[in-house]
Amino acid sequence: MSGIERSLVRVDNLVVIKENASRRDTPGDDPEMSGTRLVGPLDLTVKPGEILGLLGESGSGKTLTLRALAGVNPAGLHAYDQNGPYRPVYRSAMVFQDPMGYFNPRWRVRRSVAEVLRIVRGVSRRNVRFRTEELLRDVGLAVEDGSLFPFEMSGGMIQRAAIAIALAVDPHVLLADEATSALDPTTRDRILQLLCRVGRERRAATVVVSHDVSSLAEVSDRVIILYAGQSVEEGDPRRVLAQPRHRYTDLLVRSLPGDHTRGTILPEIPPEPFATGADVTERNRGCPFTGRCPRADERCRGITPEWRGNDAHRFRCHYPVEPGEQR
Ligand code: SF4
Repeated sequence: MSGIERSLVRVDNLVVIKENASRRDTPGDDPEMSGTRLVGPLDLTVKPGEILGLLGESGSGKTLTLRALAGVNPAGLHAYDQNGPYRPVYRSAMVFQDPMGYFNPRWRVRRSVAEVLRIVRGVSRRNVRFRTEELLRDVGLAVEDGSLFPFEMSGGMIQRAAIAIALAVDPHVLLADEATSALDPTTRDRILQLLCRVGRERRAATVVVSHDVSSLAEVSDRVIILYAGQSVEEGDPRRVLAQPRHRYTDLLVRSLPGDHTRGTILPEIPPEPFATGADVTERNRGCPFTGRCPRADERCRGITPEWRGNDAHRFRCHYPVEPGEQR
C-alpha cells in the first residue's frame, strides 16, 4: 500500500449557520454568510477505512456536523467550507437512531433492501436477490429474516437491516448518528462493532456520533471532542479519553458512571449560562468553555487558545489538566 492514503473526507473551516432573515436584508451583508454560527470552524479529515468518533453533550453540534457531511442540512441551516457552500463530492449513507423511518411498513424487509440496490445502484433484477441476501448475511441477519415485516423485528434486528440499506448504497462515507442509543447495552456494543467492521471492510470513511464514550473509545481510530460546535480536543481515543487535557473533556469523562469507587461524588458540568451560537461574521474570541469552566480567567475570556500537542493528541486550553493534578 502507498505511504499516504487519500482522504475521503477533507473539509477545512466547515461552518453551519442558521439563517438570520433580518440580517440577510441588511445592505452590505453577504447574504450567504449572515446568521448565527452553530458549528465551526471545523477541520475534518477521514481516510478510507478509518473510524472517526464525534463526542460531546447534546447541543454540541455533533448531529449538525454529520448532516453537513451528508449534504442534508435541516431547514434554515446552511453549511460552508472555506470555498463557499459545502457540497459533498462523495457518495454517503447515514444510519439514524430510529431506523423505522427507512422502511415501508407494508414491505418485507428484503424488499426495502432490494429497492435501494435496484434504484440507487442500478442492480439488475437477475442479481438483486443474490445481492440482497449477501447484504443481510453481512450484517448478521439470516436470509429468512428478510421475509419479516419491520414491526416483527427486534430493535437490534431492525438496526442491522438499516445498516444493510446503508451498505446497499455502496457508500464512500458512512455516517452514524446515535445509531445505537435506543438499544440495550449488549445489543448496542454489537451494533456499534458491526458498523465499524463493515465500514473498515468496505474502506468507507466512517463517522460515528455517540454518547457512549467507552464504546466509542474502543471502536474509533480517532475522536473529536466537540463543545459549542467547536473541536476542543482530538486524537487517539486511548490518549484523549484516558488522559484528557482540555477541561471540558476532563469533566465529561469524569462525570461518566463506571470507573468510580463506591461513595465517590461524580463531578458535575456546571449549567450553561449563555447561548452557544455566535454571529458568523465575528471571529472566535476566547475559549468556548469559559462560561462553565472552573479554571477560567480573563485570558480564557479574551484570547482564543491555540492548538497544543501533536496529531496523536492535541487540545486547545490555556491551562490544561496536568497529569496527577488534584481536582
Ligand atoms: S482555556 Fe480556560 S476556560 Fe477554556 S478549558 Fe482551558 S482553562 Fe477552561
